[in-house]
Parts: sequence; C-alpha cells; structure tokens
Amino acid sequence: MSIPTLGIIGGGQLGSMLAIAANKLKIKTIIFCNDIDAPAQKFSNEFICSQYDNQNKINEFIDKVDIVTYEFENIPYETLNNINKIKPVLPKPSINRIIQHRLAEKDFINKLNIKTTRYVSIEKSSEINSVEDLLPGLLKTVTLGYDGKGQYLIKNLKDLETIKIDFSKSYILEKLVKLKKEISIIITRFGNQKYEIYEPIENIHKEQILINSKIPADINDKILQKSKLWAMQISEELKYIGTLCVEFFIDRNDNLYVNEIAPRVHNSGHLTINAYNISQFENHIRAVCKLKQIPLKKISNAKMTNIIGNQIINYRNKKFAENQFFFDYLKKEIKDKRKMGHLTTLYN
Ligand code: AMP
Repeated sequence: MSIPTLGIIGGGQLGSMLAIAANKLKIKTIIFCNDIDAPAQKFSNEFICSQYDNQNKINEFIDKVDIVTYEFENIPYETLNNINKIKPVLPKPSINRIIQHRLAEKDFINKLNIKTTRYVSIEKSSEINSVEDLLPGLLKTVTLGYDGKGQYLIKNLKDLETIKIDFSKSYILEKLVKLKKEISIIITRFGNQKYEIYEPIENIHKEQILINSKIPADINDKILQKSKLWAMQISEELKYIGTLCVEFFIDRNDNLYVNEIAPRVHNSGHLTINAYNISQFENHIRAVCKLKQIPLKKISNAKMTNIIGNQIINYRNKKFAENQFFFDYLKKEIKDKRKMGHLTTLYN
C-alpha cells in the first residue's frame, strides 16, 4: 500500500482535527457521518452522509477507503465489525465493544488489577436498596452516556422516591469518589510494546463537562508513574493500535482510580497540537496508517479552555496573543453546553 485513503466515522471536531492531521501527512480522508452539517467535511477530501446502519452507503464507503478509524465510540458494533471483514478497522471493533459498555469496561480494567471506583450493575430501582454502602453514588446508563448525559446523582435511598429514573435502560451504580483531582493520559500504541505517551494532563470538569486541561498536572511522582503504567498496561492488553485516552480520578487520600477509557483521540489532548512536536491526532494517523513512529518532544507547558455554547461569539471577535491558539469548530448551530471551540495558551 502506498499512500492510503483513510475513512473516518464521525464528523465532529475530533474528526476535523484528525482530517487536518492526515492532510499534513498527505493522507486522503473520507468522513462518514449521519449529520449533514458535520464540521469535519470541511477538512476532508470527501464526505458521505448516512445513518450508521445503511448498508449501501457503508459499501460505498468501504469501496473508497483502505483503512477505517473512528472519532467517537458509540457506533454500532455490527457496523464496525462488518466493515472490518473487508477493510481493517483500527482500533479493532472488539475493543470498542468492551469500552462502549460501562460494566464490561470496568470488569476488564479490574481484571488487570487496576483500581476503579466500586460499582454494581442495576436493572431495577429495588436493587439499589441492597447496595446502600455505594451511596452517595452516580447511576449511569451502561451504554450511550457522555458528558454527564444519562447520569443521576443518588445521595441516599430517599432520593429514589423523588428522582425519576427510566428503568427501560440498564445502569451501573458507581460510588461517588471524593475528588481531589482528575487527570488523563493520552497514549498512542504502534504495536507490541511500542508507544508514544504524553505526560499526565490535569482536567477540570463543571457539571460533568470538561472545561480546562493543563500540563504539567500538579500531581506527585508516584501518581505520575502509576497513571502512565496503567495506561500502558491497558493499551497493551487491548492490543490497541492508535491513540487512546485513560481518564483517572485522584481522591483526597491520593488514591488513583481509572474512571474510563476513550478508544479514540480525546478532548483533554487538544493541547498536544501546540505543546508537542506531534499531536495526539497525528500520532493516531501515524499508528493506524503504519507510518513512522517519531519520538515525542514537549515544546511547552500549556492550558486548554473549552469554549461552550454562545461563549464562541466573543471569541470569534477577539484578538489573540502569540502564545494563544484559537480553534473554532465551525459548527452551524450554537447550542447550550455544546463544545464550539477551544483556546490553547502556551506558557513556561
Ligand atoms: P463520565 O461521563 O463517567 O466520564 O463522568 C463525567 C464526569 O463526572 C467525570 O469526569 C467526573 O467529574 C464526574 N464523575 C463521574 N463519575 C464519578 C464518580 N464515580 N465519582 C465522582 N465523580 C464522578
């Protein structure tokens, strides 16, 4: 294979940044997305707009690409698996299947002797009565939740009388961690024991949405080493190819827990575009397209701020300093809580 054409499923900002990175490496991209206004189409060579189960459109996509990757994890497993029978999908669909499912994901992590917060499967309200010691806890839908969607905070059993929970869905109840900090590790795995790993990133969330990320993270050396080791173990066990993000909690006693794994490039890694010689996006493209692995070099400390909803209007009219990098995701519609752009500031 000379220069491959890369298919990217999903057309949001992560798809845009992947397409931009691919373009820099002279790799053609085709975005496959169910949103006619998908911003990533502006940066890709071609765009196919279709539902994720439309076999005719999927066949057209398969015919045109050499390799397929994805920018979000909630793609039907069947779709990824069917594509993978004809053209390689990286990361492998079986990995995505584990990570799409919060229970399977946590079981997988614990089998590696890596700590998560305590959790239990919940199918009906009465089951919560027998696990009162997990309260206060967060009840999360087992599939399809992100940025706090599909989550209920249950402080005590009395809350069950007032909170309306849709029990047509399956849930996981997680003990609420008394958080001191949240960090993430972005790692790109190229093959057996071959990684590029970014330093831990410190993240601040508000109402379960990421607001700020920064490097260096203000953490002790033990946590720094352990978080990197766990991210390597997870990616090695999954035989992962591409960029992966592991999100961690640190509690008030400096215990480290894995919160979740994102089998893709990640919002907290946006600062790698300006703070490193190779971004998480370029590394993902390099790994899935089997290009050369280049050792990571940090250029600068950095802070990234997400621009949410109508905050974008002010940013569009702002002048920025030389150490500031503004990214407008060019989304057609401004929506409350929607990630519209980000600003990265480099500092010493
Ligand atoms: P998630 O969608 O599971 O990644 O959750 C989004 C955010 O909600 C996390 O980054 C935390 O800030 C918060 N959160 C989720 N689960 C827990 C937990 N078990 N304990 C404390 N905070 C949590």
